[in-house]
Amino acid sequence: MNRPLTLKVAAIERETDDAVTIHLKQPLLRKVRYSAGQYLTLEVDVDGAKGCRAYSISSTPGLDKTLSITVKRVAGGKVSNRLVQELSAGDAVQTLGTHGRFTFAPQPGRGRHLVLLAAGSGITPIFSILKSALHFEPDSQVSLIYGNRNQQSVIFRDKLDQLRQTFGERLQLVHVLSRPDTPGAHEGRLTRERVMDILGALPGPQAREYYSCGPSGMMDEVTAALEALGIAPERVHQERFTPAKAPVVGGDTEKRVELLMQGQAFNFTVAPGQTLLDAALASGVQPPFSCRSGFCTACVCTRLSGQVRMREDHGLSADELNRGQALLCVGYPLTDDVRLQVD
Ligand SMILES: Cc1cc2nc3c(=O)[nH]c(=O)nc-3n(C[C@H](O)[C@H](O)[C@H](O)COP(=O)(O)OP(=O)(O)OC[C@H]3O[C@@H](n4cnc5c(N)ncnc54)[C@H](O)[C@@H]3O)c2cc1C
Repeated sequence: MNRPLTLKVAAIERETDDAVTIHLKQPLLRKVRYSAGQYLTLEVDVDGAKGCRAYSISSTPGLDKTLSITVKRVAGGKVSNRLVQELSAGDAVQTLGTHGRFTFAPQPGRGRHLVLLAAGSGITPIFSILKSALHFEPDSQVSLIYGNRNQQSVIFRDKLDQLRQTFGERLQLVHVLSRPDTPGAHEGRLTRERVMDILGALPGPQAREYYSCGPSGMMDEVTAALEALGIAPERVHQERFTPAKAPVVGGDTEKRVELLMQGQAFNFTVAPGQTLLDAALASGVQPPFSCRSGFCTACVCTRLSGQVRMREDHGLSADELNRGQALLCVGYPLTDDVRLQVD
């Protein structure tokens, strides 16, 4: 797990009426390492208590000097409104580091076709990946299919146009606007049918890899389109800002759990719908935790037996999940024989 870190705001750049990019200074002695596609976990004050929010990193490692996140206001949102409206250069933000396994690692010797699909603020990690591919995979082609309401609401509009000028035919930009205010864009939403049509008409190699990020509805449509086209799941990478389905609960009966921590065994029961962390805390056990949202991985543990299901698994890599790691704050026991070791 990364250690908490305070970062200074270098500059705030307005992208649209309701979105800003926050450029954070990289500390001289402890640079924040990240991969294109990952997010930064911010620790924030929410109603007088510590809370966490994840913001995907829009800067690109190896290319941009600042570590940048791009935040779009959510109606009634406690943190996004504060970040968009109140933060200024020189302010400090608390972070719990970078996380996430929606990552892109450029392979300079490879020539492939990266198809990126985004809507609204979902462009943030996609933008980092897009720049990484264009700059560090010179033989690859990139296509971006990007859904928004109208031209004014397109985050990174000028920067994308600039990249198109620099990289020419290597970058295809397909804008899909639900209420277009300029000619030249596809009209409508990124529905399954429209995504299939656009993908069918894309020039460039058919051997493609897909990266998508956007609101739940758009992600469901993109998933359905890729499935209908028979795209192999290992070629599809997705990031969701909101959970796909209602939270998973671990059945309708209480489960018994044993937690091994600092050489001691703690036994407690977990009520239906209760997370492992909440049940542990309710019984007086104090495992480490921070964000309570599955982002920061402070509450990571290893499953020794039994079954656990997680509501969110953003924070752990595929390898960590395969090794039986789980997060207490978003984990629910499914069986009565769950034994966990806090690492
Ligand atoms: C992995 C990950 C990466 C993310 N990256 C970004 C990013 O790059 N840029 C960005 O702007 N946001 C991003 N988000 C969303 C961000 O973490 C917050 O959820 C968002 O800013 C809302 O927080 P809030 O405190 O303003 O809203 P809250 O006060 O938590 O919620 C207020 C209301 O808004 C709804 N809501 C919460 N989040 C969203 C959302 N994303 N879209 C629509 N409605 C929502 C809630 O259900 C609630 O009704 C990301 C989320 C995840 C999980």
